Amino acid sequence: MNKTNPYLQFDQQMVGDIYTSQEVMDNLTVLCDEYGARFAGTPEEYAAANFIADRFKKYGLQNVRLEDYPYAGWTRGTATLEVLEPIRRKLHCISLPYCPADDITTELVSAGHGSPPEYEALADTAANTIVMAKSSSPPDLGRWVHRKEKFERAVLAGASGFIFVSEHPGVGPETGSLQNNRPAPIPGISVCKEDGEFLTRLLDRKQGKVRLKLQTTDVNEPRTSWNVVADLPGHENGSEMVVVGCHYDGHDISQGAHDPASGMVSVIEAARVLSAYAGDSLKRTVRFIAFGTEEIGLTGAFRYVEAHDSELDNIRFMLNMDAAGGASRKGIVLHQWDALGTFFNTAREQMNAEMPVGQKVHSYSDHFPFFLKGVPSSHIGDPEAPPSGRGFGHTAYDTLDKVKLENLRAASAVGARVTLRCANADDFPAKRRSQEAVQEIVDTDPGLEGYRISLKLTNSVSEIGV
Ligand SMILES: [Zn+2]
Repeated sequence: MNKTNPYLQFDQQMVGDIYTSQEVMDNLTVLCDEYGARFAGTPEEYAAANFIADRFKKYGLQNVRLEDYPYAGWTRGTATLEVLEPIRRKLHCISLPYCPADDITTELVSAGHGSPPEYEALADTAANTIVMAKSSSPPDLGRWVHRKEKFERAVLAGASGFIFVSEHPGVGPETGSLQNNRPAPIPGISVCKEDGEFLTRLLDRKQGKVRLKLQTTDVNEPRTSWNVVADLPGHENGSEMVVVGCHYDGHDISQGAHDPASGMVSVIEAARVLSAYAGDSLKRTVRFIAFGTEEIGLTGAFRYVEAHDSELDNIRFMLNMDAAGGASRKGIVLHQWDALGTFFNTAREQMNAEMPVGQKVHSYSDHFPFFLKGVPSSHIGDPEAPPSGRGFGHTAYDTLDKVKLENLRAASAVGARVTLRCANADDFPAKRRSQEAVQEIVDTDPGLEGYRISLKLTNSVSEIGV
């Protein structure tokens, strides 16, 4: 039996408009085909920020502005990888963001998937070598091991260089930053699955004696990036607000059509229909944020929470829609907010939407700086999906042709309907956490193991003064 739906009229208008409009795909086409990768700190990123600001203005949002901030910029240089022994062979490779310029010649060691037990098994043998790790995670580990954790474990093991190997055939090397908003201490590159398999066979056949020469020429220098911020004002309850966001920067080797642009245009679409149909009835302000510089360190989101520290108490809820217009189910993944489970399950029943609600937290998107500040946060995703790889994500093949209008519509509709409920509910059963309560989760949650390794590396780097 259907739940009584107090938002029925809004739902019908907003969802009806989304499903009879092409606007969301038109916006995606401009973001991807006009502005390309929108890589952090580039003119394309700035042009995309202005396009998003123009869309927010066109849809009636207020206080639309670009907020700039300095960050550690990175520009790709040519990278070359050559096998010197036991045979000579040049392999195609690309630097990963924050790779420093370097020139090293040393032996290759495989860390398999790069999971904690595999690094433990390497023990001292990883020191002064180039460590190779696949992008996949061991099926029995029960969690996805992020590239950054694999790289940071290699640094902590004393490696001189790092090779990231795509797990997917036919998509070339997979990119992704080595560090957050700072140059990496050792070079890291990526090769395609096929070349990774070749190197693995060489190691097996030659009893582990493979010598490599790796040269990188990347440039690390300060740059400027931008968050785009816009408000749909609430008419009651003063300064209280709901934040809806997604990053708009992509990786330099791709259009970033799925990650992040499918989510970014779904945020814009949610803003469009909320403004058109619910703007006069909003009780609390909805703030829309297009974050810059996510791909290389969540920098736009970290700068936002710093710059708006005095407003964080006012944020009732933060919804991150990173890459939300992809193929996965449009569920609400709460970042360990048990008290909100019933609220969103009630919303799902009212909405008659396929919107699984679950609890899981990770540190690899723009919700995380809000989470660390104790703000009730979530992202759109499938809380029941098993850990899996990125497919064509973070490769040259994350292109517009693979994004489906129906998925953009589904993400936009869930985004708009959930946001309306968060903004207008009289009772919202979550309040900002204390720093002690945040620390407890940071110290113990299995989903934050990679973040704990990151903190360990930060401490060891500052101890040795690099
Ligand atoms: Zn993303």
